[in-house]
Formats: sequence, structure tokens, C-alpha cells
Amino acid sequence: MARRTFRGGVHPVGHKELAKDAPFEVFLPKQQMAYPLGQHIGRPAAPVVKKGDRVLAGQLIAEASAFVSANIVSACSGTVKGIEKYRSIGGSAVDAVIIENDGLYETAEGIGEKVDPATLTNEQILEKIKAAGIIGMGGAGFPTHVKLAPKKPDDIKYVIANGAECEPYITCDDRLMQEKPDEIMDGLELLLRLFPNAKGVVVIEDNKPLAIAAMTKAAEGRERIRIQVCPVKYPQGGERSCISVVAGIEYKISQLPADVGCVVDNVGTIYAIYKAVCESTPLMERGVTITGDAVTRPCNLITRIGADCGELLEYAGGFKGGILPAKMLAGGPMMGIAFDSLSVPLQKNNNALTFLGVDEVAEAQKIQTNCIRCGRCSHVCPMGLSPQLMSLAYQARDFERYEKKLYGLECISCGSCTFICPARRPLTQEFKVAKAEIMAAKRAAQAAQQAKEAK
Ligand code: SF4
Ligand code: SF4
Repeated sequence: MARRTFRGGVHPVGHKELAKDAPFEVFLPKQQMAYPLGQHIGRPAAPVVKKGDRVLAGQLIAEASAFVSANIVSACSGTVKGIEKYRSIGGSAVDAVIIENDGLYETAEGIGEKVDPATLTNEQILEKIKAAGIIGMGGAGFPTHVKLAPKKPDDIKYVIANGAECEPYITCDDRLMQEKPDEIMDGLELLLRLFPNAKGVVVIEDNKPLAIAAMTKAAEGRERIRIQVCPVKYPQGGERSCISVVAGIEYKISQLPADVGCVVDNVGTIYAIYKAVCESTPLMERGVTITGDAVTRPCNLITRIGADCGELLEYAGGFKGGILPAKMLAGGPMMGIAFDSLSVPLQKNNNALTFLGVDEVAEAQKIQTNCIRCGRCSHVCPMGLSPQLMSLAYQARDFERYEKKLYGLECISCGSCTFICPARRPLTQEFKVAKAEIMAAKRAAQAAQQAKEAK
């Protein structure tokens, strides 16, 4: 049962005007490229190349090493410089394949060949998606071939194409829906083949009229697909918010979307599926928004994964007036990750680089005060949690209460509570730490148990 909106949520200023009218520009980086082996949820990929090897664009350089893992391909031609520690956009030094880009962009054999999907079985479609190394491109980074292989595919009632793009500043999904609507629809049809009892629903917020028009036109004559336009509210683009408005279902953290009959994929992911299946093109490039009031020329790029973020910023004209930004974010201001060096590679799940000036971050940097028990954080939480109490549990290091009594693991780190809090409490940041500590303790307990059983 479709709903108009989900519970809770906030209305941050969108700032979409900075880049929403900028059509995609194709930018081929010239500098060295780097591929962290763990740029997806699950086990890091295992390198299949070595220092000195010549590679082509589209060639496999690291393969999935477990059920939940993903292949990585080179997005340029060149020479493998090494497999070594490299600074990632998350800030830590991680194992990565470094490639000296020769700038020629010679492609591996077969890349770009058109394929009629009617000639493929469902198993072949899934295999192509897996081989292409596709992961959730809206930010989640979960391997797509795993998501598309639930235990009971016949029980899936909705395949949701997530085009909400609720995060402020980011506009690459809006542009993709305007510029590639037929390809996204063809990709969605491929997914509907995998789930014969499902309807396809494209969720778009109502601040994207051109995308809505383009997708509505592209959906004409496709009987299993409809467009669902939602009012602007953050976090409409969360997987749970999408399921809430399309299927009218709320579900627990222990459940997956497939457990409630839904599969949700970002429109960028669905476009990548189309490219992998119908154009034999693995995940080498993506749409990315370079934006923020500190950038000279906010824009939307189709560029290569592995590109140096400094080179992307340079293409966007660098920092406005040469003034360093107050904050650099991979993603937007609500869920993005702050990074402090531009010498980091763009990853598969990076939809934006946002550079904010002093004025834009001034509000967030106001002095923190004690909680005034206003209750606003609970009111806006889309998960129905009590952030104020979770914060107290976190501060007392009472993780049992945080998890068992306050259901703090259900927090999706959307940032709505932090955004609304008049006392500027760092709620979301606290909850990220709490969840990480609880999960680390669970993993340690599990490992200890396994070691005991092995004796
Ligand atoms: S919004 Fe902030 S001040 Fe208000 S109850 Fe929540 S934590 Fe306390
Ligand atoms: S960050 Fe977590 S606790 Fe805060 S509003 Fe979002 S889901 Fe709720």
C-alpha cells in the first residue's frame, strides 16, 4: 500500500541549484588511478595483477574473494605501479592497486559490444552483473549480485528504483534520469525479469520535475513499471524510507528488504546494470557531482572510478577565489564522510564531492550545549528511535542498554537528529561509534566461540 511519505524526517536546505542544471560532462582523467580493494561492503577483492603488468580499461584487476565481495576492473589503460597502501577517501591507508594511466583508454576485448538481453538467461544476466563488479552506487556499496539473489525471488513484490536523491547538494541522479531515462528503464526491466511477481516503482522527489517528466515518458508502454513522486523530505532516499512509501512496510534491522518482499537499487546502479548486460561494459565510470559554495564551477561529471579527487576538483575550476573550504565531503552534508586530502581516489560508491565554505558550516559548528530535552530528535527520527536516550547510553558506555532497550542498532546514520538538535549534540557521530563498538564486540565474541569449538 503506497504512502505519501515516511515517518519523521527533516527539511534541510537543498542547495541543488548549484549543479542541477549542469548537464553531464565526460571527463577522462590523465593522472595516476588507484583502486582500494575494499571499496564495497564485504571482503576485499583479491588482486589478479602484479607490478609491471600492462592493463586495459575494463580489465579485471581484483576479483571477488567471498560470497559478499565484488570484482574491480581498471578504468584506464596503463601499467600496474604496485599493490600497496594508499590513502582512501575514508582517511585510512588501505591496500590498493595503483595504475600509471597512459591516457590512451584502450579497452579490453569485447568492451562496449551490444548484446540483446532477450538472448540471455536470468543466470547469465546475474553473472554479467557480478562480473562487472557492480555495487550500490547511491553510497551503500553492497555488492549488487548478492542483493539480486534472494532465497525466494518469487516472493519479491517490488523492485524499487531509488531516484529520490534527497541528500542536499547532490544532483547526479537527477541528471542521469534526465539524460539516460530509457537505459535506466531497460535496466529496471532486466531486474523485473529476475523477479517475475514484482512491480517496478521509480521513487523520485517532487523537486526534480524534468527527471519526473523524462522517466514518465520512458515508462510509457512498460506495464509493470510506475513512477511514484514523493514530497521533498530527508531521508526519502534511504532504503527503508523508499520501502515505507512504496509498500507501506516498516521492518527491523535484523531483516533485509528481500525479507519484506522488496529489492531497492539506486538509479545509478540500475544504469550500471544496463551497461553491464546490454553494452558489455563493467563498472568503470559513474556520475559524480562536484559541488558546494567553495567550488568555482559546480558540475556533474561522468568520470572514471579510481580518478584522483584533486584532478576532478581541478576540472571543476578549483576552489573559488583560491580559498580553501571549511569542509570537504565525500557525499553530501547529511550522510557524507569528511575527508582532508584531495590525493584520494574516487570510489564506486562516491556520488559527490562537496566543498563547503565557512558560512555553510558555521551553523553546524555552533557551540554545543547540554541537551535541553526538547524531544525534537525523537520526532524526526525515521526509525522511531530515541536519540536523546541513546546518547545518554552511549556516554555511559552502556552498550547493552543502547542495543537491547533502545534498539540503537536500528539507527541508519541519517543525521536527521543531529541536524535538528538545538543543542548541537553530535548524536549521529556518537551512534556510529556505538554501533561500531557493539559490532566489534560481537565479532570478537563470535571469533572466540569459533576458536573454542575448533579445540
Ligand atoms: S534534539 Fe538535542 S536537545 Fe533536543 S532532546 Fe534531542 S538531544 Fe536533547
Ligand atoms: S541518525 Fe539514527 S537516531 Fe538519528 S535520526 Fe537518523 S536513524 Fe534516528
